Amino acid sequence: MSQMNQSQQPKTIITVLKCLKCSYMVERPFKEGDFVLKIDGTCPNDGSPLYIWGIYAKSLVEKK
Ligand SMILES: [Zn+2]
Repeated sequence: MSQMNQSQQPKTIITVLKCLKCSYMVERPFKEGDFVLKIDGTCPNDGSPLYIWGIYAKSLVEKK
């Protein structure tokens, strides 16, 4: 009997950034040293600092 040994599903860690002033929100791949509420980058709309709002894992496999 042969068994399919499925390897781990590829996952990517996503960091969600939000502007302190407006409702601008952006996602980017997680970088080492990221943590929630860290200030990272500036808003393209008003130049305000962006803070890390959340970090989550996202599966790369999308089935439609
Ligand atoms: Zn903004």
